[in-house]
Amino acid sequence: MFLRIVLIAAAAYFSIKALIWLRRYVRAQIARARVRDRREDPALGANEMVRDPVCGVYISARDALPATVNGVTVFFCSQECLKSFVERRG
Ligand SMILES: [Zn+2]
Repeated sequence: MFLRIVLIAAAAYFSIKALIWLRRYVRAQIARARVRDRREDPALGANEMVRDPVCGVYISARDALPATVNGVTVFFCSQECLKSFVERRG
């Protein structure tokens, strides 16, 4: 009888521990995913480095010339690159 109570108590203790660990793990994964999303969004953050698709140069998003092409924001290092990108697309 006593042994059974100890076993039930132990089982309850470990399942609560497992639940707490699982919740912490899920939260950590969500936080990590948020950081990843922020990094991959080229429209956010002035310190982000973006690549000019014309000359291939990397520039900070703050200094770049943004242009929206088919709903996607593309960044250029100069008016010349922006112009040649537009011309190349017809
Ligand atoms: Zn360029």
